[in-house]
Amino acid sequence: MELIQLTPQLHFIQFPVGHAYLWHDPDGLTLIDTGLPGSAPHISAAIHQVGHQNADVRRLVLTHFHPDHIGAAADIAGWGDVEVLAHHADAPFIRAQAAGPPPDLADWERPLYDQVTGQATSEVAQQPPAPPRIDRELGDGDELGFGDGAVAVAVPGHTPGSVAIYLPRHQVLFTGDAAARTPDGTVMGGVFNVNRAQAAASFRRLAGLDVAVACFGHGDPLTDATAAALRSAAERLPADTGNAHPGALHKVSTVARVIFMCGPAGSGKSTVARQYERQGMTRLSFDQEAWSRGITAMPLPDDVHRDIEASLRARLEDLVRAGSDVVLDFSFWSRRLRDDYRDLLRAWSPRRCTWRPTAPPCCGASATGRPATATTSSSAPNSRPSTSTTSSPPRTPRAR
Ligand SMILES: [Zn+2]
Ligand SMILES: [Zn+2]
Repeated sequence: MELIQLTPQLHFIQFPVGHAYLWHDPDGLTLIDTGLPGSAPHISAAIHQVGHQNADVRRLVLTHFHPDHIGAAADIAGWGDVEVLAHHADAPFIRAQAAGPPPDLADWERPLYDQVTGQATSEVAQQPPAPPRIDRELGDGDELGFGDGAVAVAVPGHTPGSVAIYLPRHQVLFTGDAAARTPDGTVMGGVFNVNRAQAAASFRRLAGLDVAVACFGHGDPLTDATAAALRSAAERLPADTGNAHPGALHKVSTVARVIFMCGPAGSGKSTVARQYERQGMTRLSFDQEAWSRGITAMPLPDDVHRDIEASLRARLEDLVRAGSDVVLDFSFWSRRLRDDYRDLLRAWSPRRCTWRPTAPPCCGASATGRPATATTSSSAPNSRPSTSTTSSPPRTPRAR
């Protein structure tokens, strides 16, 4: 065990497998995770080394049920007035009332998993973790009672009840195994996940937080350019399945930028969209697609409309996967269509996704011109395009 001070209030208790962290408040200590079974004496030594006693531990937060995190929890729960907290979805596994689900391993994870479990099982098998009591079951957003407003951030995927702990006032994040850091310092989404797509979504959520100090369950904590490292790791996650794989870790992000034009016929959508096109974006246009099929009569029959929509959607998917920037020159009239595309793009997680309304405003929330989706900043060009540069399109087919 090594003890490393990260900030005046935070110590890193480094174990070969499964780290623990010690947070100091004026009224006592909070321990995040406990390492493997048998770690309690080492944690006690760390506590004494920083001038405290075991009885100063006020609470123990368990990030998930794995033995390298809860190994010494039962011992530490008996040290005195300690509140033990864990997410409700992992609580039955921590209490050993049920067997926790095994990971759904990607092919590239298998050799790594065998290696890690080979190392850990000899110790774990000798001494399986005694199930600790849990005093409080957590849900997403619950206040934890320490660190000037620490909150639980549900990050399912590594396990169903994985929870990160975020201290917004201190910009400190404890990720558990929802994120990790490799020996060469690369930040990555956690591995050995029970649900890989969910784990990727959780990692992206963490990457959206304002973090100065990230404390991982495995790998050294990060205290420098932390938020940027988390964000760029999130961008390297493949957009389709969310499976992190080592190849992806070294790939420069080429994730696409997507702009939704939105406004009624005659409001200048196509004009603005063509401006984006001239800047190098690929424009997908309902009208253009109809014209290219020789259809000029509007409104379109339902089946033709559906067919065009499906083909544009498939092209959008290909373009986003290929990392191309796309402007969608559609009328996003129906809420169903807007929600549909929002969900689609959220799953692909493009770098930027912007709703660009043209007057009169539409799309409700985005009437101000601000991005209305979950992802990041506005990507409108600096100068508003002129309105005199286009041939007038036919009436925009109504999206249903
Ligand atoms: Zn772990
Ligand atoms: Zn784990």
